[in-house]
Amino acid sequence: MTKKYDVIIIGAGAAGLSAASVALGAGKRVLILEMGNAPARKVAISGGGRCNITNADANVDRYFGKNPDFVRGALSRYAPADVLQWCKKHNLNLEEKTTGRFFCTDGADAVVQALIQDSQGADVHYDTQITDIEKVDNMFVINDFCAPSVIVATGGVSWGAAGVSGAGYKIAKKFGHKIVPVRPALCALKISGVIADLAGITMDAEITVGKRTLRDSLLLTHFGIGGPLAYRASLNDLNNGFYLNLLPDVNVSEYLKKQKNQCGNKSIASVLSNILPKRIAKKVIGENTKNIADVSNKEIEQIAQKLTKIFIPGDKISLHGLSAAEVVRGGIDTDDVSSKTMESKLCSGLFFAGEVLDIAGDLGGFNLHWAWASGYVAGMNA
Ligand SMILES: Cc1cc2nc3c(=O)[nH]c(=O)nc-3n(C[C@H](O)[C@H](O)[C@H](O)COP(=O)(O)OP(=O)(O)OC[C@H]3O[C@@H](n4cnc5c(N)ncnc54)[C@H](O)[C@@H]3O)c2cc1C
Repeated sequence: MTKKYDVIIIGAGAAGLSAASVALGAGKRVLILEMGNAPARKVAISGGGRCNITNADANVDRYFGKNPDFVRGALSRYAPADVLQWCKKHNLNLEEKTTGRFFCTDGADAVVQALIQDSQGADVHYDTQITDIEKVDNMFVINDFCAPSVIVATGGVSWGAAGVSGAGYKIAKKFGHKIVPVRPALCALKISGVIADLAGITMDAEITVGKRTLRDSLLLTHFGIGGPLAYRASLNDLNNGFYLNLLPDVNVSEYLKKQKNQCGNKSIASVLSNILPKRIAKKVIGENTKNIADVSNKEIEQIAQKLTKIFIPGDKISLHGLSAAEVVRGGIDTDDVSSKTMESKLCSGLFFAGEVLDIAGDLGGFNLHWAWASGYVAGMNA
């Protein structure tokens, strides 16, 4: 016998559970089908276990995809203030770590518990991996269940350790949707030819990619670069390379010229070590043992260039693999999905929410915010 529901949600992640809570609130009979043995496994590991739950600056500029404007509708219906309100309702304590970036000080598990509480009333089947769905006479049929509405909230395919599948893309394709090619994002960058003996250095730096300049903490690694700055850069198209500025707060040539006039008997190495980790300073000047007084202005300009306008060509850059990426770029093309309702424009009753869509957010709580907001809208309209 086929059991009937009002809404079937595939995926008990952030977006699926957000949708479930709203649909339940509207009195709907809800079924959640989840391939794993627990809900919200990515939420549980988010923010290093402290869940960066939202960002007060959630706006279209912080999102990536073929059409980032797609996020406007959902963000206007479910804003960061709504997430803060939801946390208050569940007595979750938050800390604003850097401006606008909210972490849960009770831990990510407490967020998962609150999500479970909000989805009470739904039937949940764990260890149930969906590979296909059918539509028969305005009803979606999945295994022994049917409903007039289905929300596909199967997430992205990165960080496979949390349990992922490409079933959402397959289902979307079946109903005529296009898929924007999927690739790792929010991940470290491999840069061939990088000097491995600088590995371990962390510093505030700037990357300029196209018209976008990003400022954050950078980690030099044995294979390239990591840390928040590299992660944020990885969201961009890096085919044409990028510029790295290791001293965004210093006018290097002005500084060196001033040192030349004021303390000319100091070595160039020691002058640079005042503004840079020693190992980098040494790497930049090589065998140059001159005192700063003997360094020509032309050489000074060259040193400044080497530190502040390091061009990394596109063909030297590759993304760290899917398994170590926090999200993916690409997914279900938003062209054929309504931004007001999250419903497919090609198949009525079929909804999408979260990372399965071609939307990726910046580092800082923007991805979970997208999951909450798009799930909210899908749950409202399904
Ligand atoms: C290590 C790590 C840390 C992160 N930290 C943060 C953070 O602090 N802040 C932030 O904003 N973002 C963070 N992110 C990103 C964020 O977790 C995701 O963008 C977000 O969870 C996406 O929500 P979702 O519901 O769309 O997908 P998911 O949370 O991935 O949920 C999808 C669900 O669908 C299930 N599923 C998949 N396929 C099937 C199938 N065929 N049948 C049944 N079920 C299926 C999966 O098991 C999963 O439970 C982090 C990601 C990682 C990997």
